[in-house]
Amino acid sequence: MWSVKKQPEITVGIMDRQTEVFGRLDGNFNGDGFGPISGQFSAKPDAGMIILFDGAQREIARSPSIRLTSQEGSTFWLFNVTIGNRFHWERTEDQTFQGDLILCSRNDQTITAINEILLEDYLTSVISSEMSAEAPIEFLKAHAILARSWILAALNRKKKTKETTIQVERTTEKDKEVIRWYDREDHDLFDVCADDHCQRYHGLTKIISKQAREAVQETRGMVMTYQNEICDARYSKACGGFTEYFDTAWDDKRVPYLTSISDAPVPQQPIGTEEEASRWILSEPNAYCNTKDESLLLKILPAFDRETKGFFRWRVDFSREELEEILREKSGLDFGTLKEIVSLSRGPSGRISKLKIVGSKKSIVVGKELEIRRWLSRTHLYSSAFIVTVEAGRFIFHGAGWGHGVGLCQIGAAVMATRGFSAEKTLKHYFRGIEIQKIY
Ligand SMILES: [Zn+2]
Ligand SMILES: [Zn+2]
Repeated sequence: MWSVKKQPEITVGIMDRQTEVFGRLDGNFNGDGFGPISGQFSAKPDAGMIILFDGAQREIARSPSIRLTSQEGSTFWLFNVTIGNRFHWERTEDQTFQGDLILCSRNDQTITAINEILLEDYLTSVISSEMSAEAPIEFLKAHAILARSWILAALNRKKKTKETTIQVERTTEKDKEVIRWYDREDHDLFDVCADDHCQRYHGLTKIISKQAREAVQETRGMVMTYQNEICDARYSKACGGFTEYFDTAWDDKRVPYLTSISDAPVPQQPIGTEEEASRWILSEPNAYCNTKDESLLLKILPAFDRETKGFFRWRVDFSREELEEILREKSGLDFGTLKEIVSLSRGPSGRISKLKIVGSKKSIVVGKELEIRRWLSRTHLYSSAFIVTVEAGRFIFHGAGWGHGVGLCQIGAAVMATRGFSAEKTLKHYFRGIEIQKIY
Protein backbone atom coordinates (compact mmCIF):
# COMPACT_ATOMS: atom_id res chain seq x y z
CA MET A 1 0.00 0.00 0.00
CA TRP A 2 1.00 3.53 -0.80
CA SER A 3 1.93 5.51 2.31
CA VAL A 4 3.90 8.54 3.36
CA LYS A 5 5.39 9.29 6.78
CA LYS A 6 4.14 12.80 7.20
CA GLN A 7 1.84 15.32 5.75
CA PRO A 8 3.43 17.02 2.70
CA GLU A 9 3.76 20.76 2.12
CA ILE A 10 2.80 22.31 -1.19
CA THR A 11 3.54 25.53 -3.03
CA VAL A 12 0.63 27.49 -4.48
CA GLY A 13 1.16 30.24 -7.04
CA ILE A 14 -1.09 33.10 -5.91
CA MET A 15 0.01 35.87 -8.29
CA ASP A 16 2.13 35.27 -11.36
CA ARG A 17 4.03 37.66 -13.64
CA GLN A 18 3.39 40.79 -11.59
CA THR A 19 5.29 44.00 -12.11
CA GLU A 20 4.73 44.88 -8.48
CA VAL A 21 3.37 43.06 -5.42
CA PHE A 22 1.73 44.77 -2.44
CA GLY A 23 0.70 43.23 0.83
CA ARG A 24 0.75 43.25 4.58
CA LEU A 25 2.29 40.93 7.15
CA ASP A 26 0.06 40.40 10.19
CA GLY A 27 2.43 39.13 12.85
CA ASN A 28 6.09 38.34 12.44
CA PHE A 29 7.87 36.87 9.45
CA ASN A 30 11.55 36.03 9.15
CA GLY A 31 13.62 36.32 6.02
CA ASP A 32 16.94 34.76 5.12
CA GLY A 33 19.25 36.98 7.15
CA PHE A 34 16.67 39.60 8.11
CA GLY A 35 13.62 39.98 10.28
CA PRO A 36 11.44 39.63 12.07
CA ILE A 37 9.36 41.99 9.95
CA SER A 38 5.66 42.82 9.91
CA GLY A 39 3.23 45.37 8.48
CA GLN A 40 2.92 46.72 4.93
CA PHE A 41 5.35 45.58 2.27
CA SER A 42 5.89 45.86 -1.44
CA ALA A 43 8.15 44.12 -3.91
CA LYS A 44 9.52 45.20 -7.28
CA PRO A 45 11.59 43.35 -9.85
CA ASP A 46 14.97 44.83 -10.72
CA ALA A 47 17.57 43.27 -13.03
CA GLY A 48 16.83 39.66 -12.13
CA MET A 49 16.37 40.53 -8.48
CA ILE A 50 13.40 41.26 -6.28
CA ILE A 51 13.62 44.28 -4.02
CA LEU A 52 11.50 44.02 -0.91
CA PHE A 53 10.40 47.28 0.76
CA ASP A 54 8.74 47.85 4.10
CA GLY A 55 5.78 50.21 4.65
CA ALA A 56 8.12 53.20 4.83
CA GLN A 57 9.57 52.30 1.39
CA ARG A 58 12.88 51.23 2.95
CA GLU A 59 14.68 48.42 1.16
CA ILE A 60 14.75 45.30 3.32
CA ALA A 61 16.10 42.66 0.98
CA ARG A 62 17.34 42.15 -2.57
CA SER A 63 17.56 38.67 -4.02
CA PRO A 64 16.30 36.58 -6.99
CA SER A 65 13.98 34.84 -4.54
CA ILE A 66 12.83 35.93 -1.09
CA ARG A 67 11.17 33.65 1.46
CA LEU A 68 9.23 35.14 4.34
CA THR A 69 8.81 32.41 6.93
CA SER A 70 5.71 32.78 9.02
CA GLN A 71 6.08 32.68 12.78
CA GLU A 72 3.45 30.96 14.93
CA GLY A 73 -0.01 32.36 14.18
CA SER A 74 1.16 34.95 11.63
CA THR A 75 -0.70 35.51 8.38
CA PHE A 76 -0.06 37.68 5.34
CA TRP A 77 -2.17 39.67 2.88
CA LEU A 78 -1.69 40.04 -0.86
CA PHE A 79 -3.57 42.94 -2.43
CA ASN A 80 -5.38 42.93 -5.79
CA VAL A 81 -5.19 39.22 -6.48
CA THR A 82 -6.99 38.25 -9.70
CA ILE A 83 -9.50 35.46 -9.27
CA GLY A 84 -11.52 33.67 -11.95
CA ASN A 85 -8.70 34.46 -14.35
CA ARG A 86 -10.12 34.86 -17.89
CA PHE A 87 -13.42 33.25 -16.91
CA HIS A 88 -16.67 35.17 -16.83
CA TRP A 89 -16.42 35.69 -13.08
CA GLU A 90 -13.00 37.38 -13.18
CA ARG A 91 -12.38 40.05 -10.49
CA THR A 92 -9.69 41.10 -8.04
CA GLU A 93 -9.69 40.96 -4.27
CA ASP A 94 -7.32 41.29 -1.33
CA GLN A 95 -6.50 37.88 0.07
CA THR A 96 -4.99 36.57 3.27
CA PHE A 97 -2.94 33.40 3.81
CA GLN A 98 -1.26 31.25 6.44
CA GLY A 99 2.10 29.59 5.86
CA ASP A 100 5.14 31.09 4.14
CA LEU A 101 5.31 33.70 1.39
CA ILE A 102 7.88 33.16 -1.36
CA LEU A 103 8.58 35.88 -3.94
CA CYS A 104 10.38 34.67 -7.06
CA SER A 105 11.67 36.69 -9.96
CA ARG A 106 11.06 35.60 -13.53
CA ASN A 107 13.28 36.24 -16.55
CA ASP A 108 10.75 38.68 -17.98
CA GLN A 109 11.25 41.09 -15.06
CA THR A 110 8.15 40.04 -13.21
CA ILE A 111 7.41 38.58 -9.80
CA THR A 112 5.59 35.44 -8.77
CA ALA A 113 4.07 35.31 -5.29
CA ILE A 114 3.87 31.80 -3.87
CA ASN A 115 2.29 30.45 -0.68
CA GLU A 116 3.89 27.38 0.91
CA ILE A 117 1.45 25.58 3.15
CA LEU A 118 0.72 22.19 4.77
CA LEU A 119 -1.47 20.02 2.54
CA GLU A 120 -4.32 19.57 5.06
CA ASP A 121 -4.46 23.36 5.66
CA TYR A 122 -4.48 23.91 1.91
CA LEU A 123 -7.35 21.44 1.53
CA THR A 124 -9.38 23.08 4.30
CA SER A 125 -9.11 26.35 2.42
CA VAL A 126 -9.87 24.79 -0.98
CA ILE A 127 -13.02 23.15 0.38
CA SER A 128 -14.07 26.46 1.96
CA SER A 129 -13.23 28.43 -1.22
CA GLU A 130 -15.09 26.13 -3.57
CA MET A 131 -18.09 25.19 -1.48
CA SER A 132 -20.50 26.82 0.88
CA ALA A 133 -20.43 25.72 4.53
CA GLU A 134 -24.04 24.59 4.24
CA ALA A 135 -23.19 22.00 1.59
CA PRO A 136 -23.99 18.45 2.74
CA ILE A 137 -21.11 17.04 4.82
CA GLU A 138 -20.78 13.83 2.76
CA PHE A 139 -20.33 16.02 -0.31
CA LEU A 140 -17.62 18.05 1.43
CA LYS A 141 -15.90 14.84 2.51
CA ALA A 142 -16.03 13.46 -1.05
CA HIS A 143 -14.51 16.70 -2.22
CA ALA A 144 -11.76 16.60 0.39
CA ILE A 145 -10.73 13.07 -0.65
CA LEU A 146 -10.88 14.04 -4.29
CA ALA A 147 -8.86 17.23 -3.89
CA ARG A 148 -6.23 15.44 -1.79
CA SER A 149 -5.93 12.68 -4.41
CA TRP A 150 -5.63 15.13 -7.25
CA ILE A 151 -2.87 17.16 -5.63
CA LEU A 152 -0.85 14.13 -4.46
CA ALA A 153 -1.12 12.50 -7.89
CA ALA A 154 0.07 15.76 -9.40
CA LEU A 155 3.04 15.99 -7.04
CA ASN A 156 3.99 12.37 -7.80
CA ARG A 157 3.83 13.04 -11.51
CA LYS A 158 5.93 16.16 -11.12
CA LYS A 159 8.60 14.13 -9.32
CA LYS A 160 8.61 11.52 -12.07
CA THR A 161 8.63 13.73 -15.14
CA LYS A 162 9.95 17.13 -15.88
CA GLU A 163 7.41 17.95 -18.54
CA THR A 164 6.62 21.63 -18.54
CA THR A 165 4.48 22.12 -21.61
CA ILE A 166 1.37 20.16 -22.40
CA GLN A 167 0.38 22.06 -25.46
CA VAL A 168 0.36 20.75 -28.97
CA GLU A 169 -0.12 22.61 -32.20
CA ARG A 170 -0.37 20.66 -35.43
CA THR A 171 -0.53 21.86 -38.99
CA THR A 172 -1.87 19.70 -41.77
CA GLU A 173 -1.60 20.51 -45.46
CA LYS A 174 -5.13 21.43 -46.40
CA ASP A 175 -6.63 22.79 -43.26
CA LYS A 176 -4.76 24.15 -40.36
CA GLU A 177 -5.44 22.32 -37.15
CA VAL A 178 -5.01 24.00 -33.81
CA ILE A 179 -5.24 21.33 -31.14
CA ARG A 180 -4.32 22.61 -27.71
CA TRP A 181 -4.89 21.53 -24.19
CA TYR A 182 -3.70 22.90 -20.96
CA ASP A 183 -2.84 20.71 -18.05
CA ARG A 184 -1.42 21.60 -14.72
CA GLU A 185 2.17 20.83 -15.81
CA ASP A 186 2.53 24.31 -17.15
CA HIS A 187 3.51 25.61 -13.70
CA ASP A 188 7.26 25.79 -13.28
CA LEU A 189 7.87 27.73 -10.08
CA PHE A 190 5.12 26.19 -7.95
CA ASP A 191 3.03 23.02 -7.58
CA VAL A 192 -0.42 24.44 -8.25
CA CYS A 193 -2.00 27.79 -9.03
CA ALA A 194 -4.79 29.26 -6.92
CA ASP A 195 -7.33 29.49 -9.70
CA ASP A 196 -9.78 27.11 -11.35
CA HIS A 197 -7.04 25.85 -13.64
CA CYS A 198 -5.82 23.83 -10.64
CA GLN A 199 -8.08 24.28 -7.62
CA ARG A 200 -9.65 27.48 -6.44
CA TYR A 201 -7.73 28.60 -3.36
CA HIS A 202 -8.28 31.85 -1.50
CA GLY A 203 -6.21 31.11 1.59
CA LEU A 204 -7.98 32.41 4.67
CA THR A 205 -9.81 35.17 2.79
CA LYS A 206 -13.20 33.57 3.18
CA ILE A 207 -14.06 32.40 6.65
CA ILE A 208 -12.92 28.82 6.97
CA SER A 209 -16.07 26.95 7.83
CA LYS A 210 -16.42 24.46 10.65
CA GLN A 211 -17.87 22.01 8.10
CA ALA A 212 -14.88 22.32 5.76
CA ARG A 213 -12.53 21.72 8.67
CA GLU A 214 -14.58 18.71 9.75
CA ALA A 215 -14.69 17.26 6.23
CA VAL A 216 -10.90 17.52 5.93
CA GLN A 217 -10.19 16.20 9.44
CA GLU A 218 -12.53 13.23 9.07
CA THR A 219 -10.85 12.23 5.81
CA ARG A 220 -7.27 13.11 6.85
CA GLY A 221 -4.74 11.31 4.62
CA MET A 222 -7.49 9.54 2.64
CA VAL A 223 -7.05 9.26 -1.11
CA MET A 224 -8.61 7.48 -4.06
CA THR A 225 -6.43 4.77 -5.55
CA TYR A 226 -6.66 2.65 -8.67
CA GLN A 227 -4.42 -0.43 -8.74
CA ASN A 228 -2.52 1.07 -5.79
CA GLU A 229 -1.74 4.32 -7.58
CA ILE A 230 -3.22 7.59 -6.36
CA CYS A 231 -5.89 8.75 -8.80
CA ASP A 232 -5.54 11.88 -10.86
CA ALA A 233 -9.02 12.85 -9.72
CA ARG A 234 -10.63 15.45 -11.96
CA TYR A 235 -13.90 17.24 -11.44
CA SER A 236 -16.06 19.89 -13.02
CA LYS A 237 -19.20 21.81 -12.13
CA ALA A 238 -21.88 19.90 -14.03
CA CYS A 239 -21.43 17.06 -16.48
CA GLY A 240 -24.80 17.62 -18.15
CA GLY A 241 -25.92 13.99 -17.75
CA PHE A 242 -22.80 12.08 -18.83
CA THR A 243 -19.25 12.46 -17.65
CA GLU A 244 -16.56 12.75 -20.31
CA TYR A 245 -13.40 10.86 -21.30
CA PHE A 246 -10.08 12.27 -20.12
CA ASP A 247 -8.79 12.64 -23.68
CA THR A 248 -11.62 14.92 -24.80
CA ALA A 249 -10.09 17.56 -22.57
CA TRP A 250 -6.42 16.62 -22.29
CA ASP A 251 -3.71 14.23 -23.43
CA ASP A 252 -4.52 11.48 -25.98
CA LYS A 253 -4.74 8.66 -23.48
CA ARG A 254 -7.51 6.76 -21.74
CA VAL A 255 -7.54 6.79 -17.95
CA PRO A 256 -9.53 3.74 -16.77
CA TYR A 257 -11.18 5.46 -13.79
CA LEU A 258 -11.93 8.61 -15.84
CA THR A 259 -14.31 6.89 -18.18
CA SER A 260 -17.71 8.21 -19.18
CA ILE A 261 -20.60 7.31 -16.88
CA SER A 262 -24.28 8.10 -16.98
CA ASP A 263 -24.87 10.52 -14.11
CA ALA A 264 -28.37 9.27 -13.42
CA PRO A 265 -30.11 6.76 -11.15
CA VAL A 266 -31.23 4.90 -14.28
CA PRO A 267 -28.31 4.82 -16.75
CA GLN A 268 -28.83 6.38 -20.18
CA GLN A 269 -27.33 5.53 -23.57
CA PRO A 270 -24.16 7.53 -24.34
CA ILE A 271 -24.05 9.83 -27.33
CA GLY A 272 -22.66 8.45 -30.58
CA THR A 273 -23.94 10.40 -33.56
CA GLU A 274 -24.61 14.08 -34.27
CA GLU A 275 -28.37 13.37 -34.26
CA GLU A 276 -28.06 11.78 -30.83
CA ALA A 277 -26.03 14.75 -29.60
CA SER A 278 -28.67 17.12 -30.85
CA ARG A 279 -31.52 15.16 -29.27
CA TRP A 280 -29.59 14.86 -26.00
CA ILE A 281 -28.65 18.51 -25.73
CA LEU A 282 -32.16 19.70 -26.56
CA SER A 283 -33.71 17.38 -23.98
CA GLU A 284 -33.95 17.64 -20.21
CA PRO A 285 -33.04 14.10 -19.14
CA ASN A 286 -33.17 12.85 -15.57
CA ALA A 287 -29.65 13.23 -14.12
CA TYR A 288 -28.21 13.95 -10.69
CA CYS A 289 -26.94 17.34 -11.90
CA ASN A 290 -30.27 18.24 -13.48
CA THR A 291 -31.51 20.17 -10.49
CA LYS A 292 -33.22 23.49 -10.22
CA ASP A 293 -33.32 23.24 -6.45
CA GLU A 294 -32.23 26.82 -5.70
CA SER A 295 -31.78 26.14 -2.01
CA LEU A 296 -29.42 23.23 -2.72
CA LEU A 297 -27.48 25.23 -5.33
CA LEU A 298 -27.16 28.05 -2.82
CA LYS A 299 -25.57 25.56 -0.45
CA ILE A 300 -23.12 24.15 -2.98
CA LEU A 301 -21.91 27.18 -4.89
CA PRO A 302 -20.23 30.25 -3.46
CA ALA A 303 -21.93 33.55 -4.22
CA PHE A 304 -20.23 34.41 -7.50
CA ASP A 305 -21.00 31.05 -9.08
CA ARG A 306 -24.68 31.63 -8.56
CA GLU A 307 -24.45 34.38 -11.17
CA THR A 308 -24.19 31.55 -13.67
CA LYS A 309 -27.70 30.48 -14.54
CA GLY A 310 -28.73 27.45 -16.52
CA PHE A 311 -25.72 25.15 -16.35
CA PHE A 312 -27.49 21.86 -17.14
CA ARG A 313 -28.89 23.12 -20.43
CA TRP A 314 -28.01 26.57 -21.73
CA ARG A 315 -28.33 28.77 -24.78
CA VAL A 316 -26.25 31.68 -26.08
CA ASP A 317 -26.43 33.44 -29.40
CA PHE A 318 -24.32 35.89 -31.38
CA SER A 319 -24.79 37.87 -34.55
CA ARG A 320 -22.47 36.73 -37.34
CA GLU A 321 -20.39 39.92 -37.05
CA GLU A 322 -20.10 39.58 -33.31
CA LEU A 323 -18.91 35.98 -33.51
CA GLU A 324 -16.45 36.84 -36.32
CA GLU A 325 -14.98 39.54 -34.11
CA ILE A 326 -14.75 37.22 -31.09
CA LEU A 327 -13.05 34.56 -33.21
CA ARG A 328 -10.59 37.08 -34.59
CA GLU A 329 -9.76 38.30 -31.13
CA LYS A 330 -9.53 34.91 -29.45
CA SER A 331 -7.78 32.88 -32.17
CA GLY A 332 -5.73 35.67 -33.71
CA LEU A 333 -6.99 34.49 -37.11
CA ASP A 334 -9.17 36.21 -39.67
CA PHE A 335 -11.80 33.79 -40.94
CA GLY A 336 -13.44 36.37 -43.20
CA THR A 337 -17.20 35.81 -43.39
CA LEU A 338 -18.16 33.07 -40.98
CA LYS A 339 -19.96 30.33 -42.87
CA GLU A 340 -20.42 27.37 -40.55
CA ILE A 341 -19.30 25.64 -37.39
CA VAL A 342 -19.13 21.85 -37.65
CA SER A 343 -18.48 19.27 -34.96
CA LEU A 344 -15.92 16.70 -36.19
CA SER A 345 -15.53 14.68 -33.03
CA ARG A 346 -17.49 14.36 -29.80
CA GLY A 347 -17.06 12.39 -26.63
CA PRO A 348 -19.88 10.38 -25.00
CA SER A 349 -21.12 13.41 -22.99
CA GLY A 350 -21.61 15.35 -26.22
CA ARG A 351 -18.51 17.49 -25.65
CA ILE A 352 -16.76 18.39 -28.88
CA SER A 353 -13.03 17.70 -28.99
CA LYS A 354 -12.55 18.79 -32.63
CA LEU A 355 -14.51 21.58 -34.22
CA LYS A 356 -14.25 22.92 -37.75
CA ILE A 357 -14.76 26.61 -38.23
CA VAL A 358 -15.42 27.52 -41.84
CA GLY A 359 -14.96 31.07 -43.08
CA SER A 360 -14.62 32.71 -46.50
CA LYS A 361 -10.87 33.24 -45.95
CA LYS A 362 -9.99 30.26 -43.79
CA SER A 363 -11.11 26.93 -42.44
CA ILE A 364 -9.59 25.79 -39.19
CA VAL A 365 -10.02 22.75 -37.02
CA VAL A 366 -9.79 23.66 -33.36
CA GLY A 367 -9.55 21.49 -30.21
CA LYS A 368 -9.67 20.43 -27.49
CA GLU A 369 -12.65 21.30 -25.36
CA LEU A 370 -11.21 24.29 -23.49
CA GLU A 371 -9.73 25.89 -26.61
CA ILE A 372 -13.11 25.51 -28.36
CA ARG A 373 -14.87 27.16 -25.41
CA ARG A 374 -12.30 29.94 -25.41
CA TRP A 375 -12.55 30.74 -29.14
CA LEU A 376 -16.33 30.97 -29.22
CA SER A 377 -17.02 33.37 -26.39
CA ARG A 378 -15.71 36.63 -24.98
CA THR A 379 -14.98 34.66 -21.83
CA HIS A 380 -15.60 30.89 -22.13
CA LEU A 381 -18.60 28.92 -23.28
CA TYR A 382 -19.94 26.83 -20.39
CA SER A 383 -18.92 23.63 -22.15
CA SER A 384 -18.06 22.25 -25.57
CA ALA A 385 -21.19 20.04 -25.54
CA PHE A 386 -23.20 22.17 -27.92
CA ILE A 387 -25.01 22.23 -31.22
CA VAL A 388 -25.01 25.30 -33.45
CA THR A 389 -27.81 26.50 -35.65
CA VAL A 390 -27.86 29.61 -37.82
CA GLU A 391 -31.12 31.52 -37.90
CA ALA A 392 -31.58 34.92 -39.53
CA GLY A 393 -27.85 35.61 -39.44
CA ARG A 394 -27.48 34.64 -35.80
CA PHE A 395 -25.40 31.75 -34.51
CA ILE A 396 -27.35 29.99 -31.78
CA PHE A 397 -25.57 27.65 -29.38
CA HIS A 398 -27.59 25.15 -27.37
CA GLY A 399 -25.39 23.45 -24.83
CA ALA A 400 -25.20 21.00 -21.97
CA GLY A 401 -23.15 21.05 -18.77
CA TRP A 402 -20.59 23.36 -17.25
CA GLY A 403 -16.89 22.60 -17.44
CA HIS A 404 -14.93 19.73 -19.00
CA GLY A 405 -17.19 17.06 -17.53
CA VAL A 406 -14.33 14.67 -16.67
CA GLY A 407 -14.48 12.81 -13.35
CA LEU A 408 -16.74 14.00 -10.56
CA CYS A 409 -19.72 16.20 -11.36
CA GLN A 410 -19.91 18.63 -8.43
CA ILE A 411 -23.57 19.49 -8.67
CA GLY A 412 -24.47 15.84 -9.25
CA ALA A 413 -22.35 14.78 -6.26
CA ALA A 414 -24.05 17.34 -4.03
CA VAL A 415 -27.47 16.10 -5.11
CA MET A 416 -26.35 12.52 -4.38
CA ALA A 417 -25.29 13.58 -0.86
CA THR A 418 -28.74 15.04 -0.21
CA ARG A 419 -30.21 11.71 -1.31
CA GLY A 420 -28.19 9.87 1.32
CA PHE A 421 -25.17 8.66 -0.66
CA SER A 422 -21.94 8.51 1.41
CA ALA A 423 -18.75 10.22 0.22
CA GLU A 424 -17.33 6.82 -0.70
CA LYS A 425 -20.44 5.74 -2.67
CA THR A 426 -20.45 9.02 -4.57
CA LEU A 427 -16.75 8.78 -5.45
CA LYS A 428 -17.22 5.20 -6.63
CA HIS A 429 -20.13 6.30 -8.82
CA TYR A 430 -18.01 8.87 -10.67
CA PHE A 431 -14.69 7.02 -10.56
CA ARG A 432 -15.24 3.39 -11.49
CA GLY A 433 -12.99 0.72 -9.99
CA ILE A 434 -11.32 2.91 -7.36
CA GLU A 435 -10.52 2.23 -3.68
CA ILE A 436 -10.27 4.67 -0.79
CA GLN A 437 -7.02 4.34 1.20
CA LYS A 438 -5.55 6.28 4.12
CA ILE A 439 -1.88 7.02 3.43
CA TYR A 440 -0.92 9.11 6.47
ZN1 LIG B 1 -2.94 25.79 -12.36
ZN1 LIG C 1 -23.62 15.44 -13.67
